[in-house]
Amino acid sequence: MNEWLRNEVESIVIIPHVNPDGDAIGSTIGLNDVFKNAGFETQVIVPNDYPAYLEWLGAENKPLVYEHNPEKCSSLIKSADALFLLDFSDFKRLGKLEDIIRSLSTPIVSIDHHPDPKIETEFRFWDVNVSSTAELVYDFIVALGMVDHLKVISANALLTGIIADTGSLSHNASRPGMYHIIAELINVGADKEKVNEALYNNFSEKRMRLLGYCLSEKMEVFPQFRTALIWLTSDELKKFDFQTGDTEGFVNYPLSITGIVFTAFFMEKNGLIRLSFRSKGDFAVNEFSSAHFGGGGHRNASGGDTKLSMKDAISLFKGLLPVYAGQLNKDC
Ligand code: 5GP
Ligand code: MN
Repeated sequence: MNEWLRNEVESIVIIPHVNPDGDAIGSTIGLNDVFKNAGFETQVIVPNDYPAYLEWLGAENKPLVYEHNPEKCSSLIKSADALFLLDFSDFKRLGKLEDIIRSLSTPIVSIDHHPDPKIETEFRFWDVNVSSTAELVYDFIVALGMVDHLKVISANALLTGIIADTGSLSHNASRPGMYHIIAELINVGADKEKVNEALYNNFSEKRMRLLGYCLSEKMEVFPQFRTALIWLTSDELKKFDFQTGDTEGFVNYPLSITGIVFTAFFMEKNGLIRLSFRSKGDFAVNEFSSAHFGGGGHRNASGGDTKLSMKDAISLFKGLLPVYAGQLNKDC
């Protein structure tokens, strides 16, 4: 891998999954910065828009958004010597980039922490036990002997990925190795306060009111199934001037109700219903999402899209709860 990269690769394109989150953006910008410092020609290309609160990470080397600039992005992707695909395990999660990537024979390197990897690659750097892809990128850089090229930009980006995927080190954050990596990132200049401020205290007033509206008007709780559901239509999103990323994290709130172990958040977006699921403990929301909504993800955090109407998606969801009552109440 190292030899191939050094001898045969000059230009690299790094791509995260569609609807990129903090880990997707943090890990790609982090790797991009290290490669740039090591002398490669490198560019992050995201399939679609990413949240404004992540923009500061790419201030020096802005990710290109395929949907905004398809010609330039396609040409960069087609001429790259290597494609790095980060933070997803299935080509389906490339959104509108899926067909282009599938049509190429360019060597692919996958760096990811999702279960059940389906992407065919030349090289796979994969571990489901780590907190985030950002954590894996750090290990990858060390394995390549490129850690000297990790600078403030990459350190902040990787720290953002770790903080975002662990909810500020609150879940999936028990591996001691992760704290060693955080210590190294801070040594290099990552600013933990700034990363936290950017991720969690950086919203518009309208987003705050949308959250309040969700919790007071749109949250349905099913105590017998230890489950809660929040759903938003496109009209409601319009009313609150929805911006990409505004609903990030909404799905987690009901998990702070005593006894709730499973939450769902449904949102109408671009003619589809975007689904997010979260759980605490053993209930596997990736299996739930994949079995009933064609989605996937991690045991405690999964997502998907459905072409069902909001009404039908909600009925399907509610109808499934009695089927899972045993699992949801397992440790009661
Ligand atoms: P979120 O709810 O934040 O959109 O997604 C939570 C997690 O679920 C993501 O980190 C990702 O692992 C996974 N995920 C989200 N959407 C999809 C999807 O459409 N398909 C699959 N396979 N996984 C998804
Ligand atoms: Mn991730």
